[in-house]
Amino acid sequence: MSVFIPVNEPLLNGNEKKYLAECIDTGWISSEGPFVSRFEQAFAARVGRRHGIAVCNGTAALDAAVEALGIGPGDEVILPTFTIISCINQIVRSGATPILVDSDPDTWNLDVSRIEALITPRTRAIMAVHIYGLPVDLDPLLDLAHRHGLKVIEDAAEMIGQTYRGSPCGGFGDISTVSFYPNKHVTTGEGGMILTDDDDLAEACRGLRNLCFLPRQRFVHERLGWNLRMTNLQAALGLAQLERLDEFVARKRLMGQRYTQLLATIPGLQLPLAQTDYADNVYWVYGLVLDDAHPLDAEGAMQRLGAAGIGTRPFFYPMHQQPVFRERGLFATDSHPVAERLYRRGFYIPSGLALTEEQIETVASTARTVLA
Ligand SMILES: *Cc1c(COP(=O)(O)O)cnc(C)c1O
Repeated sequence: MSVFIPVNEPLLNGNEKKYLAECIDTGWISSEGPFVSRFEQAFAARVGRRHGIAVCNGTAALDAAVEALGIGPGDEVILPTFTIISCINQIVRSGATPILVDSDPDTWNLDVSRIEALITPRTRAIMAVHIYGLPVDLDPLLDLAHRHGLKVIEDAAEMIGQTYRGSPCGGFGDISTVSFYPNKHVTTGEGGMILTDDDDLAEACRGLRNLCFLPRQRFVHERLGWNLRMTNLQAALGLAQLERLDEFVARKRLMGQRYTQLLATIPGLQLPLAQTDYADNVYWVYGLVLDDAHPLDAEGAMQRLGAAGIGTRPFFYPMHQQPVFRERGLFATDSHPVAERLYRRGFYIPSGLALTEEQIETVASTARTVLA
């Protein structure tokens, strides 16, 4: 058996080492170092935003975004059930009510056509979370938000370098967030960023990131914040990564297309959509969904692939089924059959930037044996 192929391995062979050495040589390792603002400016420019606020991870970026919008008790926020828990944490903690939407069975993103029926006088915001490789269909979502006076939070963690109708993801809505975890298209080890054109929201986020110290009277606080600061070391990595984003995105697309070529003839598998009328898939991860008639479920398939040396990850476990929320009495009557099925039948295969052509072929031929 060949060596194990991990589900993700990042590429760190650009200027990462050089910029990190610069941090160490100059002694700038905290959040006060110069790479932080350089990275913020470069990243914000890349997605066409006025402000970028670097933070310690993508979850923190979402927490701060929700808090900066003043979302709290009595408010409702509409978001997909098929997502990571990071999206919903601060909504629940703040005392607001999350309202969940089922997925589109083809793109796996939240089904925008289901949103309008969920809007009430209490609705404050819609969170658009781009999932796995294709963006949410933003035009109808932004139109709804505009007509009903709702804020839009865009979670573009998985869509760095992706576009919606030609404009960069991370550039839509009132406030957007990204993550720089090692499986994302730009990594800082741990890291994230908040993006906005709104000066007040940006100022609020800068405050929330830094314990809400008052600019004029340090150690005097009018609001509760967090310490969410990104270090100069992380930003140094991020800047080096960002320099190669176009190359990384092109590579992800090629990898995805190659997988599709090799896997398309395996019966009983739904592969990622190559494109919609608003975007070409960027294949942040390459997901597979087993047809209902397939004898294996996702768990069985992942077990067999793992035994054959192929790393996999399950799809998201829907938010409405999470024990932590069910225990609190949330989502007791929710049923979202598309998302529930995606979890039961879906998983993803190795998709990291360091994956070689040879490894892609090994993954595909192993999948053919195991899943046929
Ligand atoms: C990765 C991810 C996050 C969380 O980012 P962390 O940096 O791991 O906290 C949030 N939302 C989505 C959609 C993600 O993929």
